[in-house]
Amino acid sequence: MAYDDQNIFARILRGELPAIKVYEDDQVLAFMDIMPQADGHTLVIPKTPAITLLDLDPDAAAYTIKIVQKIAQAIETGLDAQGIVLMQLSGASAGQTVPHVHFHLIPTSVHELGRHAAQMGDQEKIKSFAEKIKAALS
Ligand code: 5GP
Repeated sequence: MAYDDQNIFARILRGELPAIKVYEDDQVLAFMDIMPQADGHTLVIPKTPAITLLDLDPDAAAYTIKIVQKIAQAIETGLDAQGIVLMQLSGASAGQTVPHVHFHLIPTSVHELGRHAAQMGDQEKIKSFAEKIKAALS
């Protein structure tokens, strides 16, 4: 399957769609999930165009994981998270809905995980979590 450069995350990366960002550098973007499965649900994406983890360049994957760890630490500190579910869905058969590889950081327990990509969250509440994560990063 060819990479679709009109997918939502590609459009967010190009600045064509808004996102509540918590971290950005030349290779990676981290932003809040719009339909959170728990308070503080954050997404980390490489800027490299790849659909799944399986076709992501290994060096880009390695760097992205470094940032996943950094954001997870900020979620732990900023939101006082007791545990974080790291989720990565590769392929529509796994439940992937956006065809640009991404890592979910969900501060909850696997037993409490809300429904996937099911309900829009409260934007102001999401922004307040983003501010706390950003403060913990700085
Ligand atoms: P996937 O199903 O591909 O693993 O996860 C895609 C995630 O992107 C879902 O958790 C969904 O809530 C989130 N999402 C879908 N559309 C948007 C959007 O326009 N903005 C943001 N920030 N998140 C989105």
